This record gives sequence, structure tokens and C-alpha cells, in this order.
Amino acid sequence: MASFTSKVLYTPLQRINDAIVSVENGSVVSVASRNEVQAAPNKPVTDFGDCAIVPGFFDVHMHGGVNCDVMRGTASEMKQLETFLARHGVTSYFPTTVTASLDVTLSALERLADAIEAAEKNGGGRAQPLGIHLEGPFLSHAKRGVHPPDDLLQPSLGAFDKLWQAARGHVRMITIAPELDGAEELISEASRRGVCVSLGHSDADLEQTRRGIRAGARHATHTFNAMRPLDHRAPGILGEVLTNKQLSADVIADGIHVDRAVVDLLFRAKGIEKFVLITDAISATGMPDGRYMLGTLEVEVKDGRCVRNGTLAGSALTMDRAVRNVMQFAGLDLQQAVRAASINPAQAAGMPKKGKIEPGGNADFVVLTPDGEIRATVVKGVVIQ
Ligand SMILES: [Zn+2]
Repeated sequence: MASFTSKVLYTPLQRINDAIVSVENGSVVSVASRNEVQAAPNKPVTDFGDCAIVPGFFDVHMHGGVNCDVMRGTASEMKQLETFLARHGVTSYFPTTVTASLDVTLSALERLADAIEAAEKNGGGRAQPLGIHLEGPFLSHAKRGVHPPDDLLQPSLGAFDKLWQAARGHVRMITIAPELDGAEELISEASRRGVCVSLGHSDADLEQTRRGIRAGARHATHTFNAMRPLDHRAPGILGEVLTNKQLSADVIADGIHVDRAVVDLLFRAKGIEKFVLITDAISATGMPDGRYMLGTLEVEVKDGRCVRNGTLAGSALTMDRAVRNVMQFAGLDLQQAVRAASINPAQAAGMPKKGKIEPGGNADFVVLTPDGEIRATVVKGVVIQ
């Protein structure tokens, strides 16, 4: 048994002062205040002083980093990527595909399924892939962003099942445009299989959006980006995303994809329970400016902007920065910002045991300075500094 202590801990719903977390075999055994519980005698104690211990971040929309794209990365490149993610506070993530030809996508899904199954047995110390997010191919042509038009597909159960089989059932999230023919049927089938259906890359009007939600959609992908803009007489998808209390919504809080005032607006609209941070990071993250791949697409990166033919193509954002950014952009305190990066994405993804620190759960947490800088990350009890 090993213990970790700090001035404060956020579970994240509760605040515990003078905290002590005890860990054994990669799992949390107890979480308490040092006033109530002493460290086990003769067992190692790591004291993080003034810092806060918070749950590890969970990024449900992540394409790559340190020159590795999740659709193409080898096992050793993925390992480097996962170490990089952990250094930025991410302990769980969904490797996210971009639209590509069906063959390329199917072989990427097979490799990602291998990575997920291998991670279940690994010893921790790096971010863990928990499921796959399919971003495409069932997206709107009008709002495709950089997704290649020739590879977009009409929603069909047959195509979805091919993807599902290649991924050996590890698809946990899918972004879909609800206005497409066949979308409702696909949404209800994917939801039945436990997939979080997320509305995005969509030109839907209000009624089409509501039909998608009635069919089972419960989340929105990079809100405001690749979506029909809000019109006060024809509110469209955003009218519903901003006002539907059941729906969670994520945002790329890099200050590039969405103005900081609009990040603030989204936080006010969704409230502290339904506001989710993602990075949408691509292989350029953690690298100097240059040319990088996003799936099969080449992207130019300059001053932190990832662009293909004038259109934004993912980000170079890290989750720890997103957490600090929303404190600045939208006035969240550290506990609220941490919620948006941990328990909220876990709940949106339908993994309610993740994104929190509680007995019986994985010992996945991040140690943050009062300014939100990373001091250390712990995955399955293994510390990375
Ligand atoms: Zn993306």
C-alpha cells in the first residue's frame, strides 16, 4: 500500500482538506482527511504539499500528439503518445478517428481495438485508451470541416455494423449529423449498444436535432464548430444544444476554435454538470510548427493553428491547458474546471466509474499546483513526473 497526501483533494464533487489517498494494486483503497485517517505505518507516503489532487482527465476527442496519429500509430508510437498525454494530466482517452476510406478506417479500428485490449492489462503510468470515438463517416457534407467529402457515408446499419465488428465492440462514442437519411435508425441502434451518440458536423434545424435526441443522442461534439450557426429566428441545432438540459456538450477551449466569450456562454448555458472539455488534438500537438497528418490528411500548423486549405483541422491543445483556459475565459474555479475535464466527460461517455477518485476505482489522478499546472500524474497508481 502507498499513500499520497496534499493540501486539498477534489473527488471532484467533494472537497477534502489535508487529504490522504491510499492506493494498492493500482486501485484506490481510501480517500479521507488526515484528521481522520493516518498513513499506514512503514508504507511509502508521497506528500504533494500545497497542490491539489484531482481525478485524471478524460479526453473523449483526441486524434494524436507527438507526431503520432491514432489511425496510423504503431504500438510503440502509441505508447509515446500516451506518456505525453499523461504528462498533460490525461489518464483516460478515446482515440478518435477522422473520416477516411472504409478500408483505412476498418484497419485503424482493428489496431485501436488491440490497443484498448492491451491497455486493460498494462501496468499504468500512461494514459489508457478506453474506447473509440468515431468522428465520421456519417457527417453532413455542408458541415464536414476537413473530413474528405468522397469518404462521407449515408448512415446505414450495415456500414455501422462493419465498423462495430472491426472495432470488436469497442466503439463508445460516435459523432453523427442527425439530419441525414437513416440517422435516426442508426442513433437508436448505436445507443442500444451503449454508444454515446453525439450530434455534430451538422446542418440540422431545430426539429431534426430534436428527432436525433428522441432517437437517443445525448451529447454534442465541439459545439459551435462545424455546426449550423445560431440564428435567432431559425435556431437550428445550436438552439437545442444550448437549451436542452439533458444534453451534455463539449468545446475546444483553445481560444482559437471558439472565442473566449462564447466558451463563457456555453458554460452558462450547460451549467457545471453538462459542460465538457475536449482537445480535438492532432499529431502536431507537442511538436514545433510544420506539416503533420490527421488521419490521411496533411495539415499545416503555424502558431498553434492547425489548418488545411484554410479550414481549421483539429487543435494542438492539451487538456491541462484547456483546464487553465476555462478558468480564464469563463471564470470557473479549479474544482469546476477539473469537473469539466474528468467526471463530466466520463458521464457523457457512459463510464460513470471513471473521472473520479473513490475507493475501488483506478488510482488515476493528477496533481495540480494552485494555478492549474501539472506537478505529477498517477495512472493505476504509477507516478509520472
Ligand atoms: Zn476531431
